[in-house]
Amino acid sequence: MPSSSAADPFHAHDHGACRGEAMRAAEAACRARKLRLTPARAFVLETLLESHQAMTAYEVLDRLAGAGLGSQPPVAYRALDFLVANGLAHRIERLGAFVACTHGGAEHAAAFLVCRRCRRVAETALPRAMRGLIDEAAAGGFAVETVVVEAEGLCDACREAGA
Ligand SMILES: [Zn+2]
Ligand SMILES: [Zn+2]
Ligand SMILES: [Zn+2]
Repeated sequence: MPSSSAADPFHAHDHGACRGEAMRAAEAACRARKLRLTPARAFVLETLLESHQAMTAYEVLDRLAGAGLGSQPPVAYRALDFLVANGLAHRIERLGAFVACTHGGAEHAAAFLVCRRCRRVAETALPRAMRGLIDEAAAGGFAVETVVVEAEGLCDACREAGA
């Protein structure tokens, strides 16, 4: 279940507000952590924030090229790497695509609900069971670095459209 402050990507909401809030949180996080949100990085983040649909690196590259910010794949990959490494965007392994973070700010582990039909993604907090696993691993001397929790299915709208 999405946290109370975040808009639910699968249902009608004021996406302009949702997007503005995510962009402000990202800018604040960059200022606080002295990270440089270059024009290409900011543009990629804005592009990902256009909707809650995950975008592939190639789709991002198309947009960068369209905006005259670079037509070479490394430009897109470097910007995406920066955003992912700093928790401003997430890579959805199931789709091989990216979404902007909707929880803003500090580094965090998250879980994702992924609609296989419309590619919209909802970010939720890591389930308690998974945090328990990480703690148990730590107690046993194993340091977990990454956890991928992606639940794939169909959102309301796609189910109604008869998948
Ligand atoms: Zn939204
Ligand atoms: Zn996030
Ligand atoms: Zn859907």
